[in-house]
Amino acid sequence: QAVDEQEAAEESVSHKLTQRELTYDKAAQSLLNKLIRNNLVNNPNQVEVLQKDPNSPLYSVKSFEELRLKPQLLQGVYGMGFNRPSKIQETALPMMLAEPPQNLIAQSQSGTGKTAAFVLAMLSHVDPNKTYPQCLCVSPTYELALQTGKVIEQMGKHYPEVSLVYAIRGNKLQRGMKLQEQIVIGTPGTMLDWCGKFKFIDPKKIMVFVLDEADVMIATQGHQDQSIRIQRMLPKNCQMLLFSATFEETVWSFAQRIVPDPNIIKLKREEETLDTIKQYYVLCNSREEKFHSLCNIYGAITIAQAMIFCHTRKTAGWLAGELSREDHQVALLSGEMQVEQRAAVIDRFREGKEKVLVTTNVCARGIDVEQVSVVINFDLPVDKDGNPDNETYLHRIGRTGRFGKRGLAINMVDSKMSMNILNRIQEHFSKKIEKLDTDDLDEIE
Ligand code: ADP
Repeated sequence: QAVDEQEAAEESVSHKLTQRELTYDKAAQSLLNKLIRNNLVNNPNQVEVLQKDPNSPLYSVKSFEELRLKPQLLQGVYGMGFNRPSKIQETALPMMLAEPPQNLIAQSQSGTGKTAAFVLAMLSHVDPNKTYPQCLCVSPTYELALQTGKVIEQMGKHYPEVSLVYAIRGNKLQRGMKLQEQIVIGTPGTMLDWCGKFKFIDPKKIMVFVLDEADVMIATQGHQDQSIRIQRMLPKNCQMLLFSATFEETVWSFAQRIVPDPNIIKLKREEETLDTIKQYYVLCNSREEKFHSLCNIYGAITIAQAMIFCHTRKTAGWLAGELSREDHQVALLSGEMQVEQRAAVIDRFREGKEKVLVTTNVCARGIDVEQVSVVINFDLPVDKDGNPDNETYLHRIGRTGRFGKRGLAINMVDSKMSMNILNRIQEHFSKKIEKLDTDDLDEIE
């Protein structure tokens, strides 16, 4: 136990490390979400719209036809399997496609259709007969830029006259050359060099400037400044668009420096609740006993799919091994894996190829696997100081109110300390966590 705690402490310290790592973590999470998400998230909240000119009529569309897109683009949109605009697209698209173009700041959680929206706006605005850059899109990392690039390619599939180039480190161009591609997508540093130092791009000819993932962007030292310097080179009538999944004060003040006279669209994240969850705890004396209780639970109830959270990589690895030996089909998600590997593991789990996903706290932050009906906290979530991490607890087992199916959460307690954590979590949410006797499991079915 002591060893485990020390290891856990080391792991959380190593996750507190540098600014650079923190940033990487945000960008990695965002990338992970993109890699595993293949459709829109359902969000029943209303969008909040703040218009630059509150007296102008607010247009919203219920179909892509209403937008009068170029036929090649409409074909691209339908080819991607989109039938109708998502909730934020309903208002964001008419604003972005209006004449004269309007500036926009939009905030909504990942998976709500922001990328698809600004890609469509960029593709609609370019003039394919002009062979110079007209749209710039900056993203926080190379990998995120590539993901957006893929969306441009898919949506522009029937519009081959429009082409795209990546302004990313490693993409070296000859001195003195001028880009012919209409759309440039890249990271702020390289984009700035291409516009300024190397003059591969004439910033005065840019008509649309997109800044994606503003919240991830400002977490990187230097990105904010570089983005602002790019923005200052652009003409006054260039359309400025900024997107973010979250909206803290720092993001907001950055957004206002990038986007003058903005229209603002916000879609609140759906609140998570414990109301539809049955919460239990199991009292054990050791890690081995926790494992045996877990096996008893598995023997007694039918569990379609479960996620099991451990505090350290070592415990997660050990548990996954033990479960496999008991013939469970287990997937292990672990901190040392690359984002793509993690995405592949999560994908397989979502497809039901594995029934159990064992993971560490740190690793599973920010991912949603909606269909999981049973969540097991093999170790309770604690922060770096050993206090209960209520937010993680809620995110892990909480369901969103409206679409929430009933769920089951089982917490494994194996010491006075973890009992104390459990009690504090219980108090925090004012919701009882019942004791479960794993030798008599009739009650939970
Ligand atoms: P965000 O940028 O907010 O994370 P995306 O634009 O990446 O959201 O969209 C999330 C997922 O939903 C993607 O898989 C995308 O292809 C899909 N999607 C986007 N817009 C629509 C739509 N109107 N109809 C159906 N699916 C959509």
